[in-house]
Amino acid sequence: MYIRQLFAQKPCVFSMEVFPPKQTVGYEKLQASLRQMAQLKPDFVSVTYGAGGSAGGVSTCELASFLKNELGVEPLAHLICMGNEQDTIRPVLDELFAAGVQNILTLRGDRSPLRPESKSFAHASDLAAFIRANYGSFGLSGACYPEGHVESATLAEDVANLRLKQEAGVSHLITQLFFDNLHYYRFLNVARRTGVDLPVSAGVMPIVKKQQVERTVSLSSASLPPKFTKMISRWQDDEASLFEAGIEYAVEQIRDLIEGGADGVHLYVMNNPTVAAKVYDGIRDLLPAEN
Ligand code: FAD
Repeated sequence: MYIRQLFAQKPCVFSMEVFPPKQTVGYEKLQASLRQMAQLKPDFVSVTYGAGGSAGGVSTCELASFLKNELGVEPLAHLICMGNEQDTIRPVLDELFAAGVQNILTLRGDRSPLRPESKSFAHASDLAAFIRANYGSFGLSGACYPEGHVESATLAEDVANLRLKQEAGVSHLITQLFFDNLHYYRFLNVARRTGVDLPVSAGVMPIVKKQQVERTVSLSSASLPPKFTKMISRWQDDEASLFEAGIEYAVEQIRDLIEGGADGVHLYVMNNPTVAAKVYDGIRDLLPAEN
């Protein structure tokens, strides 16, 4: 099933993100977690791209294949430009195709001294155009940033570049995580006015542990509204209460997004089936009956 089709069929598409373990020892535990998550009937599950397979862990393709072929869950495999060239990306695409994976999230990847820049693909849109031209059967998704990407001077400039993704064949977008829905609504207004008419999955990460805050914020550059910082300050020394408060915050955020007409909700659940189930319980009455 192509992800684009899901948006034509459902008022709100429910999805999650998981990441492959760096070492194969964690794989059995992750498989058990994914079996639990599959019971929530997500419309698709995205699998992040990392060094996984080549570093002795589990590859994105292996995990995507497990979701598709063992669990019957539609996978969305992330694929990045950084560190890849046309000749190295072809075998990855061949492998994904052979595994029956139909959807790819095309990304540039974060800049890192550990990853060389790609000479073939400067931007996600270049990778999307390459896949469209050479592997036309894949459905393509792309990333977007409600607060603007850090490398763009303004939100308008970043959104103008999203048009390039759309023109390159991307047919669905997933947002970076955000904690204040106003950013999402503003972004959507700018995007629609700029001619970006793709369905957008709103990315929400439930923050249930103190350590997540610093790491998440530095990686995502998401701004923190006072309501969020108050929650963290209040419960930071009480693990159990912070867990509950973090779930409640995410549930409230998602309920507002669905009621506000979001095309889809994408949960960054950090491979945690308990978090996925708790959030799902809080929003299931707003999702289509079959979820
Ligand atoms: P691009 O679309 O290339 O955009 C990067 C910057 O360049 C933006 O400022 C954009 O406005 C600008 N730009 C775009 N096109 C052009 C152009 N033609 N000319 C000039 N400027 C341009 N990283 C990983 O390493 N692995 C993952 O699995 C992963 N998954 C992610 C999933 C989601 C949903 C999101 C939101 C991010 C993910 N990332 C992942 C992080 C992502 O790779 C980084 O945010 C990266 O910095 C940008 O990726 P992009 O695909 O948005 O890049």
